[in-house]
Amino acid sequence: LMLEFISHQISISIERKKAEQELNAALTKAQESDRLKSSFLANMSHEIRTPLNSIIGFSELMTDPAFDSGQQVDFAKMINASGTNLLAIINDIVDISKIEAGQIQVKKASFSATHLIADIQKEYSFNASMKGIELRPDPSNPKHEIIFDCDENRIRQVLVNLIGNAIKFTKSGFIEIGIRTTDNFIQFHVKDTGIGIPEENHKLIFERFRQLESAETKKYGGNGLGLAISKSLVELLGGTIWIESPPEQGSVFYFNIPL
Ligand code: ADP
Repeated sequence: LMLEFISHQISISIERKKAEQELNAALTKAQESDRLKSSFLANMSHEIRTPLNSIIGFSELMTDPAFDSGQQVDFAKMINASGTNLLAIINDIVDISKIEAGQIQVKKASFSATHLIADIQKEYSFNASMKGIELRPDPSNPKHEIIFDCDENRIRQVLVNLIGNAIKFTKSGFIEIGIRTTDNFIQFHVKDTGIGIPEENHKLIFERFRQLESAETKKYGGNGLGLAISKSLVELLGGTIWIESPPEQGSVFYFNIPL
């Protein structure tokens, strides 16, 4: 009887210990998420205020009769650019929140990856050419059309993110959009001749809010969410994303999606 009592007491104490450990783990997690939320708010309020202030400022100037119609057109362009920027930030915030809440659904359907790449290239080559950069398909892309089953919009979103970054971080040269297939997966890549990313940061840049801070990179702007969203989307589609960036040679972002 005594032995039974002792073993019962021991199992109660083991249970208690386990509950305590679980509670501690939950607490640590809650504190971590609280800390992230604060840094999120600090980051975002800056990113949102900048374009919003420009919208308010330039729309106010537009009502001032001292400016001629040419200047008013310039103001309207500023307002448009800031509005577009703001929308992109809000879309990123909504996406990362949905991803974290596990609320993003994948909609698979058959589509042409060849057409997708051609469309994106047409859409963004103007932005690139404004910086004197050529945005082109990789010359060694397969000549035949590649059709496969996946969520086209999500793949487009990842490619657009990578291309946006490539344009942002490249001063001169070119950007190439590539596609390869094997029996098991389809692989995309975006190659640029930009500032590159040192090896020790290759993992870090995929974390949310991460931007490589230096006087040089400060000037590029952004919210540090693009690559975190891209990584989550690729993983949601069952794939992986990674980067290669040999010194002085720009960056190549790859991602593959299983077939
Ligand atoms: P954002 O571009 O808004 O800062 P991202 O998550 O898209 O956020 O990128 C995180 C960081 O990774 C960038 O701030 C930059 O330091 C680095 N980075 C991303 N793409 C490139 C690139 N093509 N070339 C050089 N650095 C890059």
